[in-house]
Amino acid sequence: MSVQLDKPWQRILDEVATWARKNSPWAIHYNSGSCNGCDIEILAALTPRYDVERLGVTLHGSPRHADVLICTGPVTRQSADRLRRIYEQMPEPKFVVAVGSCALTGGVFHDGYNCLGGIEKVIPVDVFVPGCPPRPEAIIDGVVKLLQKVDPDRTPARAGSEIVSEKEDTHGSYDRNPATD
Ligand code: SF4
Repeated sequence: MSVQLDKPWQRILDEVATWARKNSPWAIHYNSGSCNGCDIEILAALTPRYDVERLGVTLHGSPRHADVLICTGPVTRQSADRLRRIYEQMPEPKFVVAVGSCALTGGVFHDGYNCLGGIEKVIPVDVFVPGCPPRPEAIIDGVVKLLQKVDPDRTPARAGSEIVSEKEDTHGSYDRNPATD
């Protein structure tokens, strides 16, 4: 059941929701075919050494509660539909971070018989974090860039995508720009 509020109350409610989202975005992680290297770096970013929680980011298990979908790996034929369904279950406004070269372009799996390519082949992506795997610092940089986009006047997927600086790609596997691909 949805409650209709007067405009001023609705505006205040939206501002409070945006403030809460900016200060504590809830994330869900999905591996659509990764070798797990990127997943381990995401775990490292969550541990006390790198501590992405200091930016308010917490990992949750349900897409219905998540603001941010963190994706790793290329999209395989088997996982494409699941990825799409997870994205559709998330409430608006929703944001997507693609972590790792495979999530950007398909990476080392790009010409595999079961590989469709990067995450953007299936759902819109807001922030790309290159690397194979990207370091936790690069993932945190991606999160910071995402927080800058949490703005009520911008529709994330349509407002353009961010790419974390290539200098963060210490393993040299970033070879093309998926935003213009
Ligand atoms: S980018 Fe590298 S570490 Fe990440 S899933 Fe692909 S091969 Fe594995």
